[in-house]
Amino acid sequence: MPDDAMAIDPATRANLELTRTLKGEMRGSLLHVIDRTVTSAGARELGARLGAPLTDPEKINLRLDAVGWFLDSRPLRENLRRTLKLAPDMARALSRLSLGRGGPRDLAAIRDGLAVAHAIAGLLVRDGDGLIAAPETVERDRAAIATAGAALCDTLGAALAPELPLMARDGGFVAANHAPALDELRRLRDDARRVIAALQSKYADHTGIGTLKIRHNNVLGYHIEVSPRNADPLMTRPLSETYIHRQTLANAVRFTTVELSELAGRIHEAAARALELELEIFDGLARAVLDESATISACADALARLDAASALAELAAERRYTRPQVDASLAFEIRGGRHPVVEMALERDNQGPFVSNDCDLSGDDPVNGEPAHRLWLLTGPNMAGKSTFLRQNALIAVLAQMGSFVPADQARIGVVDRLFSRVGAADDLARGRSTFMVEMVETAAILNQAGPRSLVILDEIGRGTATFDGLSIAWATVENLHEANRSRALFATHYHELTALSEKLPHLMNATMRVKEWKGDVVFLHEVAQGSADRSYGIQVAKLAGLPPAVIARAREVLALLEKGDNNRAVKSLAGELPLFEPQSGTGYTLAEKSAAEKALEEVHPDALSPREALDLIYRLKSLL
Ligand code: ATP
Repeated sequence: MPDDAMAIDPATRANLELTRTLKGEMRGSLLHVIDRTVTSAGARELGARLGAPLTDPEKINLRLDAVGWFLDSRPLRENLRRTLKLAPDMARALSRLSLGRGGPRDLAAIRDGLAVAHAIAGLLVRDGDGLIAAPETVERDRAAIATAGAALCDTLGAALAPELPLMARDGGFVAANHAPALDELRRLRDDARRVIAALQSKYADHTGIGTLKIRHNNVLGYHIEVSPRNADPLMTRPLSETYIHRQTLANAVRFTTVELSELAGRIHEAAARALELELEIFDGLARAVLDESATISACADALARLDAASALAELAAERRYTRPQVDASLAFEIRGGRHPVVEMALERDNQGPFVSNDCDLSGDDPVNGEPAHRLWLLTGPNMAGKSTFLRQNALIAVLAQMGSFVPADQARIGVVDRLFSRVGAADDLARGRSTFMVEMVETAAILNQAGPRSLVILDEIGRGTATFDGLSIAWATVENLHEANRSRALFATHYHELTALSEKLPHLMNATMRVKEWKGDVVFLHEVAQGSADRSYGIQVAKLAGLPPAVIARAREVLALLEKGDNNRAVKSLAGELPLFEPQSGTGYTLAEKSAAEKALEEVHPDALSPREALDLIYRLKSLL
């Protein structure tokens, strides 16, 4: 990981689904959603940028300049992308050639890649004229591709035949008129082939067998072939003096002649020498390529960067992304931010528009002397969009610092040096850690490492343990983040008690996901607003999920009791009663109906039983089961 890259630990990478989803799939990851590159080298470049977002605002802005320029020059962008599609993977071809594993098609890839590069350099000049001058990085890339390997490209163009075999040892890849000695050998070989063709009619006349053929296979080489019916005269004098028997098969008898063997020998020799010469030529061309490998690599890299930059511009145009302002401040101000992946998924499934949200975690105190709210405590019901909001802000930071436009109306980000996330339940059972343990290990990493320039997103810390333990851990975590880490942070929680912390922590702001109640149901607005949620709406969400009405009704009763305050007494009284549940249609199970064994047990008074009666009772109970 380069020093000047945003540090993102593996858990955060996985949680944010940067290049793979938590299920391990490419589809649905951030990379999958933003990738508009047209070459594999461009896709690799984009993946590398996403894997290591930059922290130097100057470098980030240079990348953003290139994206902006391509965004503004649509015809140029389209032209460039169309031409880039023709570019083979030069980097791969170069690496195969340098390992001695290359073939003629790798030479052709270099030839075609260089040709595409030159064409693109031409486009950038022509189309660049009359527009705003190309930014520094595009100009630098243009210079790297404009004349790269021009002479080599011509040499390869002249040397390679139109059709190319996979391996050099298959031969036939050097173009005619490239090497006179090779042309001569090929002529010899072709002449001999013509002579052989002439021999066939000579032998047919000589033997009087019109169907006689001269054929070639890898075992016998050139040979004469007649049907078994015609073979006898060739095996008897005088013809047998000329025709030497080689092989008898069920449907063919094969012969050779001295003349044919000699000719075949000449062809073989010419072909072997031709191949030897071709291999020499291949080695020479491969060496010429490797001599210029630095230039070719630089050219391939420049093409990949142009692909990545124009692809990000394409993405910005298509998805209405805007240029973030990235600087050295501690700002984190997002207006109208969206989650790139969820937004696409909602669109795809026709599930209505994504609701954009603002987020301001700026760490620098504003001019009016008010404390900056760099830590947001987000409450709100399940399914209201808390995780989405948390993640979208982290993703916007990653996108901005990799040099991409962002899914927001406006964004100002003071570079983030470390990104931490503790989102969702990522079990690590295979490594012998429980969900709660994983959660705590990740939280520990955050509290030990995060600083004022970090961005931290924490989702439902403490959920995996007993309520009071969880609440206490969450409480102390918020305090530590506020006082010690001083990071820009979003903290989503179901513990409403935590909202009281805003009274004493000046940089903490309470935010909530707005919902509306409608006829006893909950309607999610997906809007983030200042304030705190007064309720969890967990029961309403459970109802939406299809829990049986009897369970919902009972849960409401329990909640009402618990909300009265004295939890211990409430639990005791709840434990003493069991409500009547309706039999579930179809399942045959009923919670309300007591079994015969249970009824019998209810009538038992243990202190009044003799040992003998107790034993009888056990037998009776067993028979009732
Ligand atoms: P839980 O507390 O159960 O984890 P949550 O509050 O974190 O829930 P999310 O998982 O973020 O909720 O969101 C639930 C669903 O709501 C998403 O899958 C998405 O379909 C929808 N959603 C979230 N945010 C938005 C938004 N801003 N606009 C539109 N739909 C949204």
